[in-house]
Amino acid sequence: MSKAEWENNEEIKIFREYLRIPTVHPSIDYTACVDFLKRQAASIGLPVEVVYPVNEANPVVVMKWLGKQPELPSIILNSHTDVVPVFADKWTHKPFSADMDDEGRIYARGSQDMKCVGTQYLAAVRALKASGYQPKRTVYLSFVPDEEVGGVLGMREMVRQDYFKSLHVGFSFDEGITSADESYSIYYAERTLWHLHFKISGTAGHGSLLLPNTAGEKLHYVVNKMMEFRATQLKRLNEDSSIDIGDVTTVNLTQLRGGVQSNVVPPLLEVVFDIRFAVTVDIPAFEKQIRDWCEEAGGGIELYFEMKNPFVEPTKIDDSNPFWVAFKKTLDELGLKTRARVFPGATDSRFIRHIGIPALGFSPINNTPILLHDHDEFLRADTYLHGIEVYKKLIPAVANA
Ligand code: ZN
Repeated sequence: MSKAEWENNEEIKIFREYLRIPTVHPSIDYTACVDFLKRQAASIGLPVEVVYPVNEANPVVVMKWLGKQPELPSIILNSHTDVVPVFADKWTHKPFSADMDDEGRIYARGSQDMKCVGTQYLAAVRALKASGYQPKRTVYLSFVPDEEVGGVLGMREMVRQDYFKSLHVGFSFDEGITSADESYSIYYAERTLWHLHFKISGTAGHGSLLLPNTAGEKLHYVVNKMMEFRATQLKRLNEDSSIDIGDVTTVNLTQLRGGVQSNVVPPLLEVVFDIRFAVTVDIPAFEKQIRDWCEEAGGGIELYFEMKNPFVEPTKIDDSNPFWVAFKKTLDELGLKTRARVFPGATDSRFIRHIGIPALGFSPINNTPILLHDHDEFLRADTYLHGIEVYKKLIPAVANA
């Protein structure tokens, strides 16, 4: 297809219209986004509801495509409507103009993460419904806010509420990550995130002395242990080509503070780590290890968890999960090369999985530079249209499982 053909394609027009709505953090006004989605629902002929899990400023738009057997657990096609901030001066195109170049690259914040997936779901449902097709299970399309800052005002609250329970969801689709090579990743789990502060007390005094049990010595001990553990994970990652970052535990020192003056040994130092546990790690045992290190360091160390996410059971990727079987079989039949992985960061799927609903993260974007949260984020028009074709097969397959 040529640039002119892409520009006149109805689905590309809808995608670009969505991209031009600047639902960008912080302080997002979702009004135009909700209006856009309501118009989409009306044009497809789907009933739509807007719900507010936390407050009026953070709407969730839910569309319903009734199945032939609505008593069966439903399928939810989830996407988030918010996008991360931009450094506009680093972009070669305006980040909310959705410019297209001669090769069909559409530049916009959200073109990969993840407005593309939201309108691809709509496009696939539009085409299927227009052909007279009706799925066995009811299919919901949910468009949620706040994902990029933790989902606290969106999915995290929504899954706890009666409204969500009334949807009787049996399986969820959500976002994956762009792939730079020909393969596609399917995400069945996420690592467990901690933001852990060590508040280290010690003997204070004059900088000219060699006092016992100083905060600095204890900090040195604890940081060493954490870094030794980090090195074991880096070694695993470097030596085993069959694993990737989602399969190891990452440990990063992210903040350090304390001290009052250069010649005063301080009574308190604080060090903060971002830790993301691989799904195979015995997390309670690891916590005990950390507490043991604190004692070995001399004690007087308080652990404060700024974030201590619960362990979430991975979605099963075997014959016991009929949704997985249908999902994988469809992508195989389409001739797509896939790989099941653990998501390196966090998505709204963790809230869905936490309440016992299987969820898979998948974005039908391959052979594309990974520009999520980066400058000049783009998606090629042909990649976008191909993704619609993928969902036209995938959604019915899973909705009939
Ligand atoms: Zn995303």
